[in-house]
Formats: sequence, C-alpha cells, structure tokens
Amino acid sequence: MKKIILEKSKCIGCGTCEVLCPKFFEMKDGKSHLKDSKENSNKDEELEVEKIECAKDVVDACPAQCVKIK
Ligand code: SF4
Repeated sequence: MKKIILEKSKCIGCGTCEVLCPKFFEMKDGKSHLKDSKENSNKDEELEVEKIECAKDVVDACPAQCVKIK
C-alpha cells in the first residue's frame, strides 16, 4: 500500500490537483481535500491507496509542494 499525504496548511488553493487528479482530489472551501482521507495528528490528510495513479502528477505539479507519497 502507498499513502498520499496532503499538507493542508501549505495549500494555496490553486486547484491544479483537482484538474490533474479528480479521482483523489477535490476543492473544498478554497483548499484541496483528499477524498475519503483521514486527518493525522499534524492536521494533514492521509489516504492509503493500492496505486497512486494520477496523484504522482500532483506531487510534481503542486506549486506549494504540499502533496507527498509514502
Ligand atoms: S495543487 Fe497543491 S496548492 Fe494547488 S490546490 Fe492542490 S494541494 Fe493546494
């Protein structure tokens, strides 16, 4: 399993993630939201997935570099 992590506090709300990867990302209240994710102790959102698919493109494209894969 892989984990997608969204450091929500760093998100500048540009919307690129939703355009590139609507399977996992949607905009909510001006910030990105990782669909069906859980919030960790740092208030980041985490989602376990079998395959990271389009989330890889978001890691490269996010201008705030707030999306990570582990
Ligand atoms: S691409 Fe990055 S900065 Fe832009 S909305 Fe998504 S998470 Fe936020």
